[in-house]
Amino acid sequence: MRLSILVPVYNEADNLPELISRLLKVARDSKESFEVIVIDDGSSDDSVRIVKEAVKMNKEMKLIRFNRNYGQHSALFAGFAEAQGDIIVTLDADLQNPPEEIPKLIAKIDEGYEVAGGYRENRQDSIFRRIPSFFIAKMTSKFIKVKLKDYGCMLRAYKKDLVKEMVAGGEAAVYIPALANSLASSVAEVPVEHHAREKGKSKYSFLRLLHLNFDLMTGFSLLPIQLVGLAGVAIALAGLAFSAFLIGMRFIMGPEWAVQGVFTLFGILFFFVGIEVLAIGLIGEYVGRIYQEVRRRPRYRIKEIIGGHPT
Ligand code: UDP
Ligand code: MG
Repeated sequence: MRLSILVPVYNEADNLPELISRLLKVARDSKESFEVIVIDDGSSDDSVRIVKEAVKMNKEMKLIRFNRNYGQHSALFAGFAEAQGDIIVTLDADLQNPPEEIPKLIAKIDEGYEVAGGYRENRQDSIFRRIPSFFIAKMTSKFIKVKLKDYGCMLRAYKKDLVKEMVAGGEAAVYIPALANSLASSVAEVPVEHHAREKGKSKYSFLRLLHLNFDLMTGFSLLPIQLVGLAGVAIALAGLAFSAFLIGMRFIMGPEWAVQGVFTLFGILFFFVGIEVLAIGLIGEYVGRIYQEVRRRPRYRIKEIIGGHPT
């Protein structure tokens, strides 16, 4: 099989009928052998019924059902493990990235790249998502030493070997585009269209985004905690200098002078406390990740698999 298209779904009933018909059309027009794997990430709306219906009518389709919600990246991992194609494409179910862009990605893979990642040229998300994304892309590019414009775009194509490598890695909490780029020998970037979400709501709340981005930052580099360590050294040195200054002034100006510095000291103290809490938080993040990996719990549980080619 040439092509596996993976679609993670979490309560996308309003988008699924159109998505499925457009996606199947694109795939059939490409004249390649293909499969579409929908991973239901514990939806509670009509999504499962709609996909089951589609699986019945189209032998290229397959549904993997989770027993609860595990998140988009876990859903994609389940799809990766199941995919048979030489090229594996991931696509969101909400039609923000049109399925019609898939052939562009495949063309890049055929040119010899191991990963073809879409980047959203005219991203139609709120400014509150775009600004953080901009900085995150910059930082992540530094951390994992693969420059990318858009780490959030999930319309991407991968070569099979790379995907199997990622599955074998078996890491618990991992950000797929970053992992793929850190392993790939060559990465292409392809501009893809992006539309505002017309139906349904974004599944990423502020807290969830924060969590995901912490994963991204600490999952690929020790630099964040090292930077805090460096800042600690700098602050300690500054503190030492300041103390020397205070003691000096105490001797020059007499005992009354020292009292006036109280508020300055407060300011400095708060700064210290802030840095300390940040450091503890970061350490906690790393310890938490170690804990997750050590536990070796399954990333997800599959309730049932329906349809698809017999393997
Ligand atoms: N998704 C998922 N599990 C989740 C959250 C999201 O499978 O826990 C799917 C969702 O159904 C969609 C894709 O991941 O197909 C991207 O989600 P969304 O469009 O809400 O993200 P955004 O575009 O806001 O970043
Ligand atoms: Mg979306």
